[in-house]
Amino acid sequence: MKVILAGINVEADLVKEAETVLGVEMTPEVISAAYARISRDPRDVNILRKEARKEVKKARRSNESIVFDMGHSSIAEHAVLNFDIIGISRIAVEAIEHFRLASYTEKSQRYIRLGRDHVIPKEIVENGFRDEFFELVELLSLYYEELYKMIIESGSASGTAKEDARYLMPLATSAQIGMTVNARTLEYMISRLSCHPLAEVREFSDRLADIAIRKVPSLVKYPDPTEYYKAMPLIRAEAGMASSAKPDEKFKRVDLVDATAHGDTALAAGIIFSGSDSSYSDSYAAASKMKKEEREAIIASTMKEMKSFDGVWREFENIDMLFEVVVSASCYAQLKRHRMTTQTVQPYSTGLGVSIPDSVKKAKGIGIFRKAIKSSESLYRKISDKAGISADYLLTNAHRRRVLVKINMRELYHFSRLRSDSHAQWEIREISDMMCALAKERFPYGGAILGGKDRFPAIKKSQA
Ligand SMILES: Cc1cc2nc3c(=O)[nH]c(=O)nc-3n(C[C@H](O)[C@H](O)[C@H](O)COP(=O)(O)OP(=O)(O)OC[C@H]3O[C@@H](n4cnc5c(N)ncnc54)[C@H](O)[C@@H]3O)c2cc1C
Repeated sequence: MKVILAGINVEADLVKEAETVLGVEMTPEVISAAYARISRDPRDVNILRKEARKEVKKARRSNESIVFDMGHSSIAEHAVLNFDIIGISRIAVEAIEHFRLASYTEKSQRYIRLGRDHVIPKEIVENGFRDEFFELVELLSLYYEELYKMIIESGSASGTAKEDARYLMPLATSAQIGMTVNARTLEYMISRLSCHPLAEVREFSDRLADIAIRKVPSLVKYPDPTEYYKAMPLIRAEAGMASSAKPDEKFKRVDLVDATAHGDTALAAGIIFSGSDSSYSDSYAAASKMKKEEREAIIASTMKEMKSFDGVWREFENIDMLFEVVVSASCYAQLKRHRMTTQTVQPYSTGLGVSIPDSVKKAKGIGIFRKAIKSSESLYRKISDKAGISADYLLTNAHRRRVLVKINMRELYHFSRLRSDSHAQWEIREISDMMCALAKERFPYGGAILGGKDRFPAIKKSQA
């Protein structure tokens, strides 16, 4: 066996220096080109890689033909790029982090005391609302500062004050992200974002495209907007308007709206299937015929040696759940990071109320909180007709939206270990606890030891 280190992602300034000293162009396309040849060239892959490095132009031509002419697109996944993204709004971050096959780390509003950096959207300026917009974001910053002090003075820790005062900050607040993405996802990201309704997001797409076309031209060839993607928001809005579904402002914060029928049986059947040579239907029939206690014992046996950091077995993915949740922007910022779920979102709505942290109530800060929300909503309403979706920049982290979360039991275990844990932020912890309670009620065996990692020993003991 040989295992050879073929490449590492290196910081860009160092790449530039190395290119100058060595007089060569360094590009991850070489790795893609070498791997693309594996299937058809009898030579070892390390030899193919060295050959590709000597002839970057040839490597590029080969990528173009294999990725785009033949459709062997996964080749582009071997080229990985890192981006520092600075001075982008919170609402634009949502559009970027929509893409599940990339990695992100964001400067946390939860841990950092926020300054007054905001993005002023082009649409707001063009529609003549620049001054009012600026006044509002300044006002919200003042309310944030005041609330922060009130929460500290009421005896809460500065961590709680930072975490909770930020509920008043607008979605225009500047954010920073480190992003790692492969060339295949990058091309998709550029194309989709180039059709986004917000100008800031389209500008971000242009900046990414400039870099991609310079650094990985053979792997990002179709970054342009397409009519197909452009039509999506309108088609969705028309479908919503044409339907008989009524606007519903009564809501549960978490509802289990659909789930695998007989999920515990499907899970036990999956375990029988992987341990036998029976078909799935025979395995399911066998699991169905078992007494409840026997099914429970099979499922419990998979958890016997489990520690808090262990994930449950893949068979737990046989149980699917569809949750409808109503969360604040602050909570959504965390929820959307769970890339193994499928999330479908509605726009933010002023009709769903706002999330108010307990520390604000304890600090007698409800008055100031409400004043801030009122100011945000009154300008939001005033400019919505003209400024369209860009009015969302004025909503705050406390404003809410509905999200459909499709999640399987395996991922719910992972989610609950992180989000029902005492380190988790309070709102997502509440949401996670409610999701776990509903899942356990529906699937008492499969969901038996859902919960935060801090409570893992106690939860496990209670099941013994
Ligand atoms: C207490 C706490 C504080 C946090 N603070 C911050 C913060 O300050 N800034 C910030 O940006 N984020 C923060 N996060 C978010 C965190 O980094 C994760 O993005 C988030 O919890 C989602 O977890 P995940 O990536 O494991 O989940 P998912 O995306 O659902 O992934 C599930 C699992 O799939 C696997 N997986 C998915 N994608 C990949 C991949 N590309 N490569 C390898 N494995 C993969 C991993 O095993 C992962 O655990 C925080 C989270 C917690 C719980």
